[in-house]
Amino acid sequence: MSQPTLFRETIFALSSGALPSGVAVIRLSGPHVRPALERLVGYIPPARLATLRTVRSADGDVLDHGLVLFFEGPASFTGEDCAELQVHGGRATVAAILAELASYSDTRLAEAGEFTRRAFMNGKLDLTTAEAFADLLAAETESQRRLAMANADGGQKQLYESWRRRLLHARAMIEAELDFADESDVPGSVADNVWADMTALREEIVNHVEGYKAAEIVRDGFRVVLVGAPNAGKSSLLNALAKRDVAIVTDIAGTTRDLVEVSLDLHGVKVIVSDTAGLRASTDPVERMGIERALNAVARADLILELIAPNDQLPAYAVPEGVEIIRVFTKADLAGAIAEPGCHMISVITGEGLAEVVQDISHRAAAASRIESVVPSRSRHVSLLHEGSAHINRALLTKSHLELAAEELRLASSALGIIVGATGVEELLSVIFSEFCIGK
Ligand code: GDP
Repeated sequence: MSQPTLFRETIFALSSGALPSGVAVIRLSGPHVRPALERLVGYIPPARLATLRTVRSADGDVLDHGLVLFFEGPASFTGEDCAELQVHGGRATVAAILAELASYSDTRLAEAGEFTRRAFMNGKLDLTTAEAFADLLAAETESQRRLAMANADGGQKQLYESWRRRLLHARAMIEAELDFADESDVPGSVADNVWADMTALREEIVNHVEGYKAAEIVRDGFRVVLVGAPNAGKSSLLNALAKRDVAIVTDIAGTTRDLVEVSLDLHGVKVIVSDTAGLRASTDPVERMGIERALNAVARADLILELIAPNDQLPAYAVPEGVEIIRVFTKADLAGAIAEPGCHMISVITGEGLAEVVQDISHRAAAASRIESVVPSRSRHVSLLHEGSAHINRALLTKSHLELAAEELRLASSALGIIVGATGVEELLSVIFSEFCIGK
């Protein structure tokens, strides 16, 4: 017998990609999947067995022939009864089947992310796993795929749950000490072990949060910003990197007034290179706006490429702390071009030095995005982790007042609980699940 579900409505959607396609997958989930299948294909196939059936309208018209799969709840993605119809991916065919399903009184089209949301509500996955599924769908590079896959496998969930167990144990030990404080044969050192473990846990959380920078680079890209005087050759280098014309290359100084960005996949890491307005003192208000944007881009950079053409001076600008810089001497094909030792020398005309610059960027991007263990993948996780470690810290500071300390540990645990969706997250759900497309 199927598991009782939390939802009364049965939802359906096209779960495969854009039409037309060889095969289209229409997914259904909810308590009325069985009657819907009876009406549509006249039969409920044995669970998890692909069966070739004719799909018909209520009037008996043949809509298509296709494979039908039935997953009996709770052993399904959502935990409810589910079905998949694998039909021909023509627009009219899919539209006819969706219209037929919509005509049933007990089914409706799913909203974005609704299948995954039901899986979460039915305890099939935690929030970090649901978020990782969204990341997996959006993954464009190999490193994004690997990060999403690690979290989709429940890496974050396991880590946070192990931390919550430690917090629970600590609270239990404190409660025991409070209960038996009057009895002389209870050693007063129970809580000492607890505090040693809580100190260690606070360190572990802080170290774990440090991994977010790498995760952010994997997700959003390693930001490389090209700076230099007007005409230093920034747009030309960007075009050479992108291997297509994305930036305006002209010899009129000050023409790149806005940021022009290209997103590159360098050995599996997303790298965003921004061309910026040449830095120089200017009275033109539009050019000054461009220069301001350039300086903002510099402030957010992971790596700065300083471009210097022969006889050019590098303009003065504020380098953000801790950001690496590569110096690149441009127009190597021109007479008088000289480079400093240890710097790059390039020419977009002859191609000299370009491969080395790409390799240098690629190595640095790979190092900055290296992820050795489970890391938080979203700013939401980071703020809750900060909250958790702050409560542990307060518990450590108030440990002479055991009741207060125990309360701080409870708050720490509930912050970690919100990350995985174990406590008070109703308002978060619509935000998280709206990231999905319909049919997921
Ligand atoms: P930006 O203002 O820094 O973006 O500079 P551009 O990329 O627009 O280049 C300014 C001028 O220098 C253009 O006329 C380019 O054709 C020229 N230029 C750029 N790179 C090279 C190069 O490697 N060799 C030569 N000879 N000219 C270059």
